[in-house]
Amino acid sequence: MIYFDHNATTPIDDRVLDAMLPFLKTFYGNPSSLYRHGRIAGSAIDAAREQLSALLGVQPGQIIFTSGGTEANNLALATLAPQAGLAVSAIEHPSVLEPAQYLKNLEHELTLLDVDTNGLITQDTIDEVIRLKPGLVSIMLANNETGAIQNVVHYTDQLRTHDIRVHTDAVQALGKIPVDFNRLGAHLMSLSSHKIYGPKGCGALVFEKSVEINPVLLGGGQEHGLRAGTENVAAIVGFGKAAELAKTELAERHGYLLKLRKLLEQGLSTIPGLTIFAENAERLPNTVQMGIHGIDGEMLLMQLDQKGIAVSSGSACASGQREPSPVLVAMGIDPSEAKSAIRISLGKTNTEAEIFEFIKQLKSLSVKG
Ligand code: PLP
Repeated sequence: MIYFDHNATTPIDDRVLDAMLPFLKTFYGNPSSLYRHGRIAGSAIDAAREQLSALLGVQPGQIIFTSGGTEANNLALATLAPQAGLAVSAIEHPSVLEPAQYLKNLEHELTLLDVDTNGLITQDTIDEVIRLKPGLVSIMLANNETGAIQNVVHYTDQLRTHDIRVHTDAVQALGKIPVDFNRLGAHLMSLSSHKIYGPKGCGALVFEKSVEINPVLLGGGQEHGLRAGTENVAAIVGFGKAAELAKTELAERHGYLLKLRKLLEQGLSTIPGLTIFAENAERLPNTVQMGIHGIDGEMLLMQLDQKGIAVSSGSACASGQREPSPVLVAMGIDPSEAKSAIRISLGKTNTEAEIFEFIKQLKSLSVKG
C-alpha cells in the first residue's frame, strides 16, 4: 500500500513501540501507587513530560497529558471561553468548532472568524476581534486539510496587548514545523501523539502558568489535579519518545518532506484541470489538498484505493448527504469545486518512487474521469 494520509494518523515508529512495550508488560503499576512498581510508572510519565517539554521549550509543569487532541481542545475552550464569549476561526477542526457551538448554546457569544482564499486569517479579522474583545480566540497553527500555516505569532502579539487570551491547535504542526510555545505567544496549545508517529489516544494541553485551568474530568488528583483519571502510561511514554525523535529529526524530516512535496506538485502541475487549494499560503511540508475539475473527490479516493493508494477526501458526510469540506467553503471555494477535493499528506517513510506511482495512477484515472 502507498500510504498518503499522515494527517489522519501516522504509523507508530518502531523506536516508540520499543519504549512503550515494557509499560504494557512489565511495569504495569498504577503511577499513583507508592510502592516501587508504581513509582517506576510515575517516573516514566515524568520522563515523557520532560521529553515533550524539551520539544516545545516549556517547563514540564506546563503540560497536561490528555486522551488526544480532541480532549485538549475541549479543555482549552472550557478553560477560557466562559469568561467573555469566544471567537474561533471558521476552519478549525470539529473538536474546536463543536465545543464552541456547545458553549454558544449555553448563551456564550460565539464569533466565527473568516479566512481568505488561501485559508488565512487576515489583519481585518484580527482588528474586528480586538474590537469585540472575546474571552478566548482560537486559531489553529496549521490546517489539517490544506496544511496552511497561520501567522499565530503576529496575531498573539496584538491580541495580548488587548488582554485577549489565545488558544492554538498545533496538532498538525507538531513534528512538521518548529513549535516553540513561548515564541508562538499563545496561552494554551493542543497537541496529539498519533500525528507524530506516537500511539493513538494520547495528547496534551500546554498552558501558560498565568492561566487557571478549568478541569473537564473530575475525580482524581492526576495531572496536577487538572485532568482526573489513571494515566495511559504506555501511551504517554510513547508520546514522549515520539516527541524526542521529532526534536532530533525535525530538520531532516522537514527537508525530506518538502523535497517530496515539490516532486509531487511538479507532477500534479502536468494534469489538466487540477487545482491545489491554498496554493499560495505557506503550508506544511507534507500536505497538498487538490481537486481535478469535474471529478468527484470521493470517487477518486475509492479508485485510488483500488490501486492500493490511501488518500483522504475533503468532504464530510452529514445526514446521509455528502457535504463539501467546510474548510474549503470557508475559503470561498465553490461547493461543487470543493467536492472534487482529495488530500495527500506525506510521511517520513514515503519515497520518490511512491510519488511517481501516484502521479502515474492519478493521470490515468483523471483521463478516464
Ligand atoms: N486538531 C486537528 C487539527 C486535527 O487534525 C485532529 C485530528 O485529526 C485533532 C485536533 C484531534 O486529535 P485526536 O485525533 O488526537 O483527538
